[in-house]
Amino acid sequence: MSKLLIVGTVAFDAIETPFGKTDKILGGAATYISLSASQFGAESGIVSVVGGDFPKAYITKLNERNINTDGIEIVEDGKTFFWKGLYHNDLNSRDTLITDLNVLADFNPVVPENFKDTDFLMLGNLHPAVQMEVIKQIPVRPKLVVLDTMNFWMDNTLDELMEVIAKIDVITINDEEARQLSGEYSLVKAAQKIHKMGPKFVVIKKGEHGALLFNNGDVFFAPALPLEEVFDPTGAGDTFAGGFIGYISKTGDISFENMKRAVIAGSNLASFCVEKFGTERMETLTHDEIQKRLLQFKLLTQFDIELS
Ligand code: AMP
Repeated sequence: MSKLLIVGTVAFDAIETPFGKTDKILGGAATYISLSASQFGAESGIVSVVGGDFPKAYITKLNERNINTDGIEIVEDGKTFFWKGLYHNDLNSRDTLITDLNVLADFNPVVPENFKDTDFLMLGNLHPAVQMEVIKQIPVRPKLVVLDTMNFWMDNTLDELMEVIAKIDVITINDEEARQLSGEYSLVKAAQKIHKMGPKFVVIKKGEHGALLFNNGDVFFAPALPLEEVFDPTGAGDTFAGGFIGYISKTGDISFENMKRAVIAGSNLASFCVEKFGTERMETLTHDEIQKRLLQFKLLTQFDIELS
């Protein structure tokens, strides 16, 4: 079985959508990634940090899905990273109202001994200095290093982020962030520029409009499943990344052809995440439901046409 190490925030989120609002609930990039990747059975572990205010029951939830949490430091007298987001009526755009780094501000990550030989490394969204430190602590380069990041780090820590981007194989970002990072409006041009920064593979997520996978001239498009109801998009991007790396970890194949399947796996998992608030839907999701929806994805995109 492959090993998968996941770095990212483990957080409290407060979310407001047109359908309702929550107080502080379980969130964070590493949380969503690990819940999603756990569907593929890799031996996964998280490196992150939380405060003494973080309920032990949340850690237990992760452990129950075979997610190793030895690498989650608990700072007893500190407060957990907190994010508050407000979605607009179309649910495609949101405002970040609060980002309180709290214990993340002084976090020095420690990769647990039994994950130093990890096969796959998923650098989820958090401070690029932490992502870099984790890369440094892994003596033999993993088969694939995937990075997910967001505009917050482009705005605040661009130089450090560029150093990380130079060291990775796959970057997953949304369309707005790809434009910000590259200074190009066309996503094709943006991907070309981002390739030059380091990553051989560039995945650009377009929310309800699917995702694009670029590999130096080759492009693949994965649709998002048209859903009747979207309740809360929080964590969809992380869930996509978790499905992507989870599928790669399970198959062990890092070819472009297999990455196409991984992008579909990611889109499939993300389509569930948005159906309920926070991590709720991911916590009840079954293998059977995932397989059924995978078939819907196939039917959505399959067609026969004669070339004349
Ligand atoms: P997504 O909707 O996929 O972009 O991810 C939302 C999750 O990202 C939430 O659970 C937040 O806790 C987390 N998050 C929000 N802002 C940041 C940030 N600046 N760094 C790391 N994680 C963040």
